[in-house]
Amino acid sequence: MAILMDGKATGAKVRARLAEKTVEFKEKYGYAPGLAVIIVGDDPASKVYVRNKKKACEEVGYNSFEYALPAETTEEELLDLIAKLNADNSVHGILVQSPVPKHIDEKKIQLNILPEKDVDAFHPVNVGKIMIGDYDFVPCTPAGITELLDEYGIETSGKSCVVIGRSNIVGKPMAMLMLHKNCTVTICHSRTPDVGAVTREADIVIAAVGKADFLKGDMIKDGAVVIDVGMNRNAEGKLCGDANFEECEKKASYITPVPGGVGPMTITMLMKNTLKSAELFANKD
Ligand code: NAP
Repeated sequence: MAILMDGKATGAKVRARLAEKTVEFKEKYGYAPGLAVIIVGDDPASKVYVRNKKKACEEVGYNSFEYALPAETTEEELLDLIAKLNADNSVHGILVQSPVPKHIDEKKIQLNILPEKDVDAFHPVNVGKIMIGDYDFVPCTPAGITELLDEYGIETSGKSCVVIGRSNIVGKPMAMLMLHKNCTVTICHSRTPDVGAVTREADIVIAAVGKADFLKGDMIKDGAVVIDVGMNRNAEGKLCGDANFEECEKKASYITPVPGGVGPMTITMLMKNTLKSAELFANKD
């Protein structure tokens, strides 16, 4: 039976530490870290994410600035707001909630957020920094996973790690972080002919596919660490991950549940990146 990696409890513990550091930060510099979150349109899931980000800011003691813009907002209007926030010294992190309406070019938006305020780490400058291993921010989901591995004392050096999925927000940066943690890393994707043959060799399997029941018990070896990034709905409409939890739990040494595993760590890492950004700003010559 695997040990459950509790992202909810770990996330709360990390946020408590951030709250303490924020108190010290405020005493030292006389202001709080600030995070601006922009939402365009009224996608219900996005609204929930934005609300949770605001709650997390309150919990750790940051200022949160929320901009709820109508769906008809033009790209130019959004870029104007970003330019204002880039120039605002009370804002240390800027995040545009995805997805944005189709008439707005998301890539252009990302490029216009100053890299030093890009707490999502989507700007090519930050992506490049991750590649060379000299970075300030890491995309929140992969960062949350490495934090969880560290909190549970999971050895990574010399281990084999398979990441399933190669998206820019999860799979690719995740693989790079595991490489920095001295794993031997393999990335699988939709053109990998036999994913199971690859994952069965892995000490650590990170599934970021977006398909319920994708990672079956017979695709992992005994004692593997299973990190389930997936957020899917099964046939009954219940939230579930990419792994068949019942099967994998029997063979794995550690496993993250869905919900309550990777998800709560993601928002916590956004808070961590924001404090880091505020510290860098405060110490700028
Ligand atoms: P994505 O952009 O859709 O990427 C999915 C990846 O899975 C792609 O690289 C795709 O390969 C690969 N894939 C699809 N079918 C496959 C197959 N049969 N065999 C092997 N690989 C396959 O998704 P994402 O944004 O990375 O997200 C992945 C999952 O994580 C989603 O369920 C998402 O909701 C969840 N997620 C959770 C959090 C969290 O905080 N918990 C955060 C972000 C995402 P190709 O590149 O070849 O198409």
